[in-house]
Amino acid sequence: MLKYKVLFLLIISFNLFSQKLERPKIVVSIVVDMMRFDDLYKYYDYYGEGGFRELLKSGSVFNYAHYNYEPTTTAPGHASIFTGSIPYFHGIIANDFFDKSSEKVVNCVEDKNYQSVGSGDEIGKCSPKRLLASTIADQIRLFSELRSKAFAISIKNRGAILPGGHIANGAFWYNNKTGDFITSSYYMNDLPLWIKKFNERKLVQDYMKKGWDLFLDKDSYSSSPAYNGEIPPDIFKSSQNSFPYTFNHLTNEEKNNLFQFTPYSNQILVEFAKDLIENENLGQNSFPDFLSVSFSSTDIIGHAWGNFSKESMDVFIRLDRNLAELISYLNRKFGQNNYPLFLTSDHGAIETPSFLKKVNSLTSELKTKQFYDSLKSFAINKFGSEKIILNFSNRQIYLDRDYINDHNLEFEDVEDSFVNYIRDNFDAIQSIMTRSDL
Ligand SMILES: [Zn+2]
Repeated sequence: MLKYKVLFLLIISFNLFSQKLERPKIVVSIVVDMMRFDDLYKYYDYYGEGGFRELLKSGSVFNYAHYNYEPTTTAPGHASIFTGSIPYFHGIIANDFFDKSSEKVVNCVEDKNYQSVGSGDEIGKCSPKRLLASTIADQIRLFSELRSKAFAISIKNRGAILPGGHIANGAFWYNNKTGDFITSSYYMNDLPLWIKKFNERKLVQDYMKKGWDLFLDKDSYSSSPAYNGEIPPDIFKSSQNSFPYTFNHLTNEEKNNLFQFTPYSNQILVEFAKDLIENENLGQNSFPDFLSVSFSSTDIIGHAWGNFSKESMDVFIRLDRNLAELISYLNRKFGQNNYPLFLTSDHGAIETPSFLKKVNSLTSELKTKQFYDSLKSFAINKFGSEKIILNFSNRQIYLDRDYINDHNLEFEDVEDSFVNYIRDNFDAIQSIMTRSDL
């Protein structure tokens, strides 16, 4: 498993308010999913004008910002950015997590009380009900007594729903089965006409027809061999295992799915954002509107190929051009100094362990399944059953209080036994905290 580690949270604010007290017409937030702070500088020479370089030049850079929780994954990251809070308060402790009341693993945004809007499948059955705090979008709406409009878009459902908060006018995301943008009946019962028309254009199929070749000439990219991340390279099925990738041999459904693994899914989000601003008439009155755009394919590609890969570099080089296009559009639409924009990331990523091992860098790896199996054996030997572990997820062990009570054990003693066992047997783990410690 590719482990996440945030080194820095980078926030760029662009075109901050002018001196006189004037409300902006629109506030734009951009999240680049799984972007390291140093990706700004690593590829700086290859970035063009108007994208990352423009933000660095014209904006303010906050480079001493950290996420102080674990795990730093997509859902807690988005929830923390937009609520200004931490998982302890906003409730989004992971993408999928153990819900102690139902004793089930739940997804952070799934909600079976709602229906998909724009498709007939499960992907849209979502709501922000597990988010226990309000977001920037909520607060802008409340400030204007709901006269401001707030929208959030992403390829991932959680990348749209969590920024949108509870009273966004809409959150829209990509359905990887149909290639369409969809939403949930939490927000509306029918897609707006403009989204139906957007979907009818079947842009995904057009993009996939082009295939994916490197944006720059190939000497600009690292010559190191690929060190695969989590997903086997056959995700691009029988396509050759390097650039240029072609997709013409795939079914439309396969193309819809693999689209997320291409930089074109950033490009389509820019197209979608522009359509949204035009059709929802954002920024047209004195009540500031809000738009959140979360670019997902940096994360999806980083996971698949690792962040030392040509694929990862290429997605950043292309995202830079996508950003330039979006910023140039916003400047034309609202005026260069008339709106605040910030860019940040929900989490970073470490180099893949296989790469670090290969170059003899300091690394260690904890295999989740081996670790859990070992814990279960320990539980059987020490307490007579693995049932004392109610759940293990997100590097957290949940102990079964009923089992502990029924067997007349002391909760703190059980905690201590697990801590000592883990400390004695797993060098890769540096810190262990119990509920009692916390
Ligand atoms: Zn993420």
